[in-house]
Amino acid sequence: MTRLAMHHERHLMSRVGWLRAAVLGANDGIVSTASLIIGVAAAAAPPADILIAGTAGLVAGAMSMAAGEYVSVSSQSDTEQADLARERTELADDVDAEIDELAGIYERRGVDRATAETVARQLMAKDALAAHARDELGISDMTTARPVQAALTSAATFTAGAALPLAIVLIAPAALLVGAVAIASLAFLALLGALGAGAGGAPIMASTIRVTFWGALAMALTAGIGRLVGTAV
Ligand SMILES: [Zn+2]
Repeated sequence: MTRLAMHHERHLMSRVGWLRAAVLGANDGIVSTASLIIGVAAAAAPPADILIAGTAGLVAGAMSMAAGEYVSVSSQSDTEQADLARERTELADDVDAEIDELAGIYERRGVDRATAETVARQLMAKDALAAHARDELGISDMTTARPVQAALTSAATFTAGAALPLAIVLIAPAALLVGAVAIASLAFLALLGALGAGAGGAPIMASTIRVTFWGALAMALTAGIGRLVGTAV
């Protein structure tokens, strides 16, 4: 493979990872905030209460996304660090066994024994830990977990998504509020699904339908429950 092709491939992969997280965060923001607004509105709440509920939902959701992402990526990072530490010890304790282990990995991928051993030795001569991290543990610079970055990205994209249905509450007339929030949110979801799929090279129609379906289901469900609670209290 040429150097240019390799560079391009790496670039595309990291872009997809970043984009996937951003689209997921925005999706969550739209679906949960729109559902919350519709649920509260279906219970016949006054517009000021709907706005308060939506704003609280935005803040709560963004914080919960950030905390969840931070915790999950941190534990992934802890696991990576522990794996690397163990690998470092193994390399220090028994280099021959480690050469054998790495050569075995290349052999199972289809390289003959002698070549596998040569490759293992040469890679380990350059950077033994990096070679084992990449080919044995599947850890590369690209996949290295970054908790703070992940937390900030999730919170920011959730907020951006949640702001969309909230903006509709501000501009839509009270009588048309539920319909306007639902239709606008589904349109945002469809657009986001298409954008995410297009950029990631996935089939556009299928992912657009999928994301819109789940969004519609969430809103319908909270509308129904909101109405039930609204008549009960
Ligand atoms: Zn190893």
